[in-house]
Amino acid sequence: MLTAKEEMLGYAAYSPVSSIRARMWTFSGERVDDAFFGKRLNAAIQFRERWGVFEESDAVRLVYGESDGLPGIIADRYADVIVVQLLTTGAEFWREVIIDQIQTLTGCSAVVERSDADVRRLEGLPPRSGVARGHLPAGALTIVENDLRFGVDVLGGQKTGFYLDQRHNRQIVRRLAGGREVLNGFCYTGGFTVYALAGGARSVISVDSSAEALALGAKNLSNNGLDALRNTWVEGDVFKELRAMRDRAMTFDLIVLDPPKFAPTAAQAEKAARGYKDINLLGFKLLRPGGVLVTFSCSGGISRDLFQKIIADAALDAGVNARMVELLHQAPDHPVNLRFPESAYLKGLVCAVD
Ligand code: SAH
Repeated sequence: MLTAKEEMLGYAAYSPVSSIRARMWTFSGERVDDAFFGKRLNAAIQFRERWGVFEESDAVRLVYGESDGLPGIIADRYADVIVVQLLTTGAEFWREVIIDQIQTLTGCSAVVERSDADVRRLEGLPPRSGVARGHLPAGALTIVENDLRFGVDVLGGQKTGFYLDQRHNRQIVRRLAGGREVLNGFCYTGGFTVYALAGGARSVISVDSSAEALALGAKNLSNNGLDALRNTWVEGDVFKELRAMRDRAMTFDLIVLDPPKFAPTAAQAEKAARGYKDINLLGFKLLRPGGVLVTFSCSGGISRDLFQKIIADAALDAGVNARMVELLHQAPDHPVNLRFPESAYLKGLVCAVD
């Protein structure tokens, strides 16, 4: 790419279909070739090592797109397996090189591709998923995160299989859960449920609409030696289940709400805001005095400011006095480059009510 004055700006991947026509690989004359990818991928992995992420878990995001100078490239490590997402035309073009380099750098036994995210459509790329290199180990893949074990379905699970971005926030819930009655809304495979029970929660109700996720969740409880009787899985729509619980006058000490992206882009922000308001208003109503709401938004289209306002509105309408105690965000293997603030997508608030 050249500037208007025909000075070298850098190399970019051109996409004639996407509304983002060019994504910069470099801001210099540095060439984009095999060695370029080797260097950037290695730097991304070294960063996680320096940051001590591998000491917390053997499931780690190794490469996080623009934040690692590699737009459109995601690579997650699950024990001995790497899951790659190639989301842009440029990443697709360099597919073979990227996958080979990742395998060489990590020495993993298999590389799985999960380039089946919706955003591929915006680039005019068809979805693709499957084993790209090596062989998947027989049976379920197990990862160990903060000394807790989780089964991960890398081929059929959501995203690349597990919500790695919540690793630190799950620890916070473990700390808060002791002796409490907990509701985990949008529980997926029971991440917050396992942590809450490991932290001594008296009971948990875990709600999700995905039967497959709940089935894996049940295994996660037994694999951690947790008492399955202390948890109730509910397959259903959180919006409806929260209403039903309110109508039955149920109450909880700790509520976690971690919904899917209601607003992938700013265009859906208004509708999404209504969704967040709805579940959080109900969440506040279901809390006992002294209770805690841990609430998240992973919508790129909702800013942290707006999210806080929505939660403030929800508390007002629920008639509770709530105080923010902690502000939560994505784990450090999802760093945010200050030049690309859009990559800060996960926002969480720990709110204590009087
Ligand atoms: N907290 C989880 C991740 C949640 S992801 C963890 O730490 O692993 C969001 C989850 O919401 C997904 O599992 C999805 O199946 C579920 N979901 C989406 N819409 C839903 C709805 N209306 N009611 C219940 N669950 C829903």
